Amino acid sequence: MDKNCNYCIKKTEVYPLASWNNKEVIRYYCINCLPMVKKVEEKERQQFIMYYSDPTRYSWLPEKSKELYKEILDQ
Ligand SMILES: [Zn+2]
Repeated sequence: MDKNCNYCIKKTEVYPLASWNNKEVIRYYCINCLPMVKKVEEKERQQFIMYYSDPTRYSWLPEKSKELYKEILDQ
């Protein structure tokens, strides 16, 4: 499937990648950008988990984000 890569904007063969915090958000990346974008997504996901593993910070999260937090931990 030829589309513009969401990162380098090159029109080429792209692969779908779901956003770490919203599975319904799918972006497309070329084979050159995909590994790097995946790494960044993974890092953001881990930072989110680490930051809110503190019960006080966790209590600040809106309901929807609390659900997301639990969902990520279950994966
Ligand atoms: Zn690209």
